[in-house]
Amino acid sequence: MKLVVLGSGTSVPHPQRASTAHWLETETGSLLLDASAAAVHRMAEENLAWMDLDAIWISHFHLDHMGGVMPYLFGTKWAPQTQERKKPLKIYGGYGLKKLLRAFDEAGRYKLFQQQFPVHICEIAPRAEFEILPGLKAKTFSTPHTRESLALRLTNHDGATLVYTSDTGYVDSLGAFAEGADLFLMECSFRQNKPVEAHLELADAIRLAQRARARRVLLSHLYPEWDGFDIREQAKKFWPDGDVDGAVDGMRLEISKEQGVKSVPPA
Ligand SMILES: [Zn+2]
Ligand SMILES: [Zn+2]
Repeated sequence: MKLVVLGSGTSVPHPQRASTAHWLETETGSLLLDASAAAVHRMAEENLAWMDLDAIWISHFHLDHMGGVMPYLFGTKWAPQTQERKKPLKIYGGYGLKKLLRAFDEAGRYKLFQQQFPVHICEIAPRAEFEILPGLKAKTFSTPHTRESLALRLTNHDGATLVYTSDTGYVDSLGAFAEGADLFLMECSFRQNKPVEAHLELADAIRLAQRARARRVLLSHLYPEWDGFDIREQAKKFWPDGDVDGAVDGMRLEISKEQGVKSVPPA
């Protein structure tokens, strides 16, 4: 499966880091891992087939993770590229997602759920197991961030595993949830002395990655306090043998069980 970092940033506007969004593609379809408001433009900018997107995963309801859902639906409702589309779009997230999206739609009378193709909102419980794309199994884990926040473990048919924490505070069991991940995509909001419990700083992230024995770690959701720091170098201080990188907008990775994680050039 292929991962494209659309946004490695946060809620704070930043010139190089769009708010949180990642594109994941398998042989059977495509999926957004969070959809900030920037995601709509960033998909087009990266020449990705936004019109064929199969599913959207919303980790929680903070707007730097889901503010792009309504603009995307407004786009597909009117764009020439989606007028012939028949295949459904599925939007996954925790309890309350339906109410939130419906309330926005009704308040503006947009009729965003009346499209040329079916749109399904699927509310997912913690510890749920389901197929998010054909052949791509998903498991969820409730994280200490907001009430509905969920981490996601994805396993492709070849066994390749990606675990996405999204925003979370530190909890040991999240490391166990990510056990053996080929790619552990983690939030690492802060460098050190984090001002809130509901996020991770570098030492937390590394502890979880070590607990998980993750093959490769990609730190994302980076606040501007990371500007000017070499994340790989910083991570080496905590974990000399670890394979840890900072996410950069536009980064493309291929994840397979056999070869691990490899960088790929843009299409
Ligand atoms: Zn966030
Ligand atoms: Zn958040």
